[in-house]
Amino acid sequence: MENIYKKVEKCPWCGQQGKTLFSEKAYNVLKCKKCGLVWSDTVLSEHGLKEYWTNYESEVHSADAVLTEQRKIMYRNDFDFVKPFIDSNSKVLDVGCGDGGFLDLFKEYGCSCEGTEFGEEAYRIAGRKYPMYFGELADIVFEKKYDVVLFRGTIQYLLKPQESLKKATELLNRGGIIFIYMVNSDSICFKLFKDKFRLPVSPTDYYMFNKPLLNDLMESMGMQLMVENMPYLGTPYENWREDILEVAEAIRKSDTGDTIEKKSPPFFDTMINLIYKKK
Ligand SMILES: [Zn+2]
Repeated sequence: MENIYKKVEKCPWCGQQGKTLFSEKAYNVLKCKKCGLVWSDTVLSEHGLKEYWTNYESEVHSADAVLTEQRKIMYRNDFDFVKPFIDSNSKVLDVGCGDGGFLDLFKEYGCSCEGTEFGEEAYRIAGRKYPMYFGELADIVFEKKYDVVLFRGTIQYLLKPQESLKKATELLNRGGIIFIYMVNSDSICFKLFKDKFRLPVSPTDYYMFNKPLLNDLMESMGMQLMVENMPYLGTPYENWREDILEVAEAIRKSDTGDTIEKKSPPFFDTMINLIYKKK
């Protein structure tokens, strides 16, 4: 059988060495000494990618009713964040659009919508509503341009993140925007909870980025950061009293050298939203 995993020894962002932050049974989590990218040294191979994502939509993404409901609210929040930068006739491409749930809000607003997917099932489901492209963005050939490219919770799944972001900027019309929603590797909870961080990197979620790292790349490609936020207050995941107490408890344990056993709660700077505009 073909191996579904492959090893990533050097930083997949800049090629430099990393230092091991901690080790899990089947993989190590490293942080690049130069650029700060956090990555798993074992990730899905091209073959594994196909296997893993085949039925992801029904088996994972839509399997939990509560999470699905919460995600719908998040879609609405994120749409409101992007809305000042789009028009009702914007052409939108959602990279890793899943079942097309986030795109639905753009369609409602009047935008023309398309998506990409490498999960076969999601590709089929979204394909009932939107023109779809199969594969990783970097490898897809397009014959048109867009005003908006969305990476909502998807850049950690791209085997070629830099090439895909470069492709996204090339696909944009002048004045067009790229929206990125991602886990923040500079976040308090990741630094504090480490292997107990609730959104870890793993062989299927390859990396964690931070803002400076993305800014450097995006600026080098003529993209300008327009706005950012860190969605927590006002999200369905917010429970600030409990969450602050849990973080305080983890700080105490870390100070006294005790093991943190509970997973990190949702918190203020765990997720980050960025919008870049093409100059
Ligand atoms: Zn690096």
